[in-house]
Amino acid sequence: MERASVIRKTASDFGVAPNWVDYAEARREFSWEKARSGLAGLPGGGINMAYEAVDRHVAGGAGDCVAFRFLGTDAERTMTYGELARQTNRFANLLGALGVGKGERVFILAGRIPELYIAVLGSLKYGAVACPLFSAFGPEPIATRMTLGDARVLVTTESLYRRKVEKIRERLPGLRHVLLAQASGDIPGTADLQRLMEQAGDTANVAPTQPEDMALLHFTSGTTGAPKGAVHVHEAAVTHWATGRFALDLHPDDIFWCTADPGWVTGTSYGIIAPLLHGVTSVVDEADFDAERWYRILQEQTVAVWYTAPTAIRMLMKAGDDIPRKYVFPQLRFIASVGEPLNPEAVWWGQEVLGLPIHDNWWQTETGGIMIANTPAFDIKPGSMGRPLPGIDACIVERDAQGRVRIIDTPDTQGELALKRGWPSMFRGYLNNEERYRKSFAGELYLTGDLAKRDADGYFWFVGRADDVIKSAGHLIGPFEVESALMEHPAVAEAGVIGKPDETVGEMVKAFVSLKSGFEASDALRMELLGHARKRLGAAVAPKEIDFLPSLPRTRSGKIMRRLLKARELGLPEGDTSTLEGDTSTLEGQS
Ligand code: AMP
Repeated sequence: MERASVIRKTASDFGVAPNWVDYAEARREFSWEKARSGLAGLPGGGINMAYEAVDRHVAGGAGDCVAFRFLGTDAERTMTYGELARQTNRFANLLGALGVGKGERVFILAGRIPELYIAVLGSLKYGAVACPLFSAFGPEPIATRMTLGDARVLVTTESLYRRKVEKIRERLPGLRHVLLAQASGDIPGTADLQRLMEQAGDTANVAPTQPEDMALLHFTSGTTGAPKGAVHVHEAAVTHWATGRFALDLHPDDIFWCTADPGWVTGTSYGIIAPLLHGVTSVVDEADFDAERWYRILQEQTVAVWYTAPTAIRMLMKAGDDIPRKYVFPQLRFIASVGEPLNPEAVWWGQEVLGLPIHDNWWQTETGGIMIANTPAFDIKPGSMGRPLPGIDACIVERDAQGRVRIIDTPDTQGELALKRGWPSMFRGYLNNEERYRKSFAGELYLTGDLAKRDADGYFWFVGRADDVIKSAGHLIGPFEVESALMEHPAVAEAGVIGKPDETVGEMVKAFVSLKSGFEASDALRMELLGHARKRLGAAVAPKEIDFLPSLPRTRSGKIMRRLLKARELGLPEGDTSTLEGDTSTLEGQS
């Protein structure tokens, strides 16, 4: 079928009137002060994310509305806003009883179970900082993040504790309390979360948090060094609210499904906070991806707004179009996606197979909320990330020879994507790394690290990352973290890690290693290294492929040239190798 370059929007496309229809007018009329009036605030100018998300609705008479529908593998549990308020009160009270200080960090390592949602919101209500971790991380990424974040409390399950935390516990002297959900009995050094919840009262005062108080800490990976803890404040709720309205078109009666895990920023900003701010019902699926199950959820849960990711969409496409034909989901009216480039093919697949186009949008851990989006208010150009939302100014920049940043006005010119600072969910720092934070800005501009183009209509097009970080199945992976884990193996002398393009997950983690003398490359050693990395890093982060090389290309200053490893892997031009150390012309894969 001949496809147009634009998917046109008309009012008749929507069963429910969209929240906005005029892009230019909405941008003109918008201010963050006005957006703030969508929330209640606390007396004296404070704001508390959990109050806005939960208690505000209860105070407004919506306590009986359903906040969450948790779909367990075999049972379903609904939780009203009223019950969520009581449960989060209990959690806040138990933090108080444990003597946890305001601003201290509560880490949560769990699957998408109710306890995770209660712990995040209860911590916010108490005035502690919530740090959800991805449950598929292995012990090393967990230890690194909990150390960097100075974890005081960990909420996890007995099974995850035994498999991932017990062996690193002694490396975390600041961790005072481990609270176990789904515990089968007394486990030394831990407390039973359910018992503590039962002992705690179900009324609580909301902490008088201020707009700039730290609320959430999300870790993100860079090219080198340890992961960075992006600090987000209570004021971020204003962005969550505004973007829920403009980018996800949330209406109060909606049933909303965000498929992201709260261990990643999307699963917190849009899997917890934004939908609750709008008083909608969120579906939370505790199970892993399964095409048939997902279509069944869309049908049986009558999902109206669905926020998912390109890898998931590609997996649905791969599963075949016969499965969606067995289901009907007439209530579904808006689909959005984030996290990786969304191919035009996938946008059209949505239109042709699901009956709705997929609205790609762009943001990152540091921005805290959606910045650039395809929305109900304008036509979609498949393959584009859309246009900046009201309140967001984006541009393309380049650095001149002196390192000064200059805005590129010429359309369709590639450069780094930058955003004018000042939106409420902008990160306020990398924890304990002021210098790295400062380097992310040039005057009023935040530099995103992504390469992009802007066309003459103001649509942004993703080109690639400016650095070496890897996006696999929507998850940002730092090559350094993977290299460090490989280097711990006694056979490994050096390791270099790249993202290798993959049809389904976007990029697959691939490692190159050279061996210490006395070790021989073999399939058995390759399997051993794959197993070693998986045990330390967890399945989500570990490499899927390892090749042996006699030595790795390095710059004269000693840095491994991942760019070169990648170019050679893909048979691409090697670019400028003038800083390359020694002669590596013999570099050949020995796989
Ligand atoms: P994270 O901080 O883990 O959410 O990852 C953010 C990064 O994911 C961005 O800097 C981009 O490189 C990538 N990303 C997010 N959304 C998109 C999108 N719509 N298209 C292309 N890349 C995206």
